[in-house]
Amino acid sequence: MSTAVKMEQTVSNFIAKPVKMLIGKDWVNAINGATFPVYNPATGEVLANVAEGRKEDIELAVKAARKAFEEGPWHKMTSSERGKLLWKLGDLLEKHLEEFAQLESLDNGKPLTVARGADVPLAADLFRYMAGWATKIEGSTIPISVPYTPDTKYLAYTLREPVGVVGQIIPWNFPLLMAAWKLGPALATGCTVVLKPAEQTPLSALRLAELIQEAGFPEGVVNVVSGYGETAGAALAAHPDVDKVAFTGSTEVGKLILQAAAGNLKKVTLELGGKSPNIVFKDADLDAAVAGAASAIFFNHGQCCCAGSRLYVEESVFDKVVDGVAQIADNIKVGAGFDPNTQMGPLVSDEQLKRVCSYMKSGLEAGAKAVAGGEKLGDKGYFVKPTVLTNVDHKMKVVEEEIFGPVVTVMPFKHADEIAPVANDTIYGLAAGIWTNDVSKAHSLAAKLRAGTVWINCYNIFDAAMPFGGYKQSGWGREMGKESLELYTEVKSVCVKM
Ligand code: ADP
Repeated sequence: MSTAVKMEQTVSNFIAKPVKMLIGKDWVNAINGATFPVYNPATGEVLANVAEGRKEDIELAVKAARKAFEEGPWHKMTSSERGKLLWKLGDLLEKHLEEFAQLESLDNGKPLTVARGADVPLAADLFRYMAGWATKIEGSTIPISVPYTPDTKYLAYTLREPVGVVGQIIPWNFPLLMAAWKLGPALATGCTVVLKPAEQTPLSALRLAELIQEAGFPEGVVNVVSGYGETAGAALAAHPDVDKVAFTGSTEVGKLILQAAAGNLKKVTLELGGKSPNIVFKDADLDAAVAGAASAIFFNHGQCCCAGSRLYVEESVFDKVVDGVAQIADNIKVGAGFDPNTQMGPLVSDEQLKRVCSYMKSGLEAGAKAVAGGEKLGDKGYFVKPTVLTNVDHKMKVVEEEIFGPVVTVMPFKHADEIAPVANDTIYGLAAGIWTNDVSKAHSLAAKLRAGTVWINCYNIFDAAMPFGGYKQSGWGREMGKESLELYTEVKSVCVKM
């Protein structure tokens, strides 16, 4: 038996006292002194107490961000200086990799191995990728067709300017990485930020704010206000002096953000839910497809907006694929994130545990068959069994709605030409997977799928350079890649009579 990893001293020090928020240059308590508990999902015990920011704290943070945007050193900095700061932040994060991996695992529940191998290095990478972009945000010269008289000439060009003060609201499934996805393009383009992490998992974003100060970002450029969505989050989304709000979370809350943003018509980007189809053809490398289909849903305990939660398998290989995925599900080692044997941790919260279990129950009551899992696991912490449901159809809630847990529904299909409309039969359009060795089949289906990302013979591959986001009710705009930067800028046309 291997023993659990020992918590680093820096981590225990960080969570020993109530954790404060960063507003301007100061680490502060909430104005009214309130704190809220953050739980360890593996035990259900309180892990830390954190300052509970509300409307009045958001007010101060927006003021600090506005001041940093209009005055002070940030707006005078060259793009190369901004790039250097971002690069340094990436380096600092890498230097503190183990500490951040531990914080993330304790707070979110994910296996330490995953936080070490994915969350923290991907976040460091994102900052470095965005560091490179800081010096490449350019306008263009425009060959305009006026003047109307031959002797009048104009020079026209565009400038890309930072959109201003940005409110960023992020979820709990990849707390550090989502902070990086949001902060990276905002800082590369010269915006200032008020970031609100999810109430379930605020720790890594708050610790990141310490590194942001250490890297040398001027005061007020990044402010982090921890608190609940209905109070701090709603105040940020509605704030009249915020120029843009960028949100990642549920489609339901995304719609509330949009309504709140309407007051001052702030710019909005939304990265929302999904119910992504993952399609296996009989001509695929079936071993790879089975392993890929399992990891598409079980990675991060199914708590991915792009999880491959609707698995469609060509009829003649249906049983084989179902058996393979069920066998993987049954053998996944579920446990606390700090146990080195753990392959899947607990769900993030008691609320999520109840939600996922109620979906399983509704599926089973509607006639689904659990060929693996189908229930919670143990009495302590928020664990569920990796679950594979067959005998399901598109009328069932488990097929239609986002579960955000390790539950995959598997359905057979007969012909390649019938699958695109079935796969697209959802309000969402975030991602999709295709498993086949037939190149033309793969590309022609990829073209028909209404999804922001299509993975072929792979799944859950992310890169800072590859834009990610949704069609339909999966969102507005894109994260990462150069597309994300455009969404943090305004275009100004300048026209000069020569
Ligand atoms: P989940 O349901 O998975 O917890 P949410 O969409 O509720 O996901 O949460 C994602 C983020 O949105 C969190 O930071 C949360 O605090 C925030 N949030 C929740 N409700 C609101 C709201 N009404 N306005 C602004 N932010 C909110």
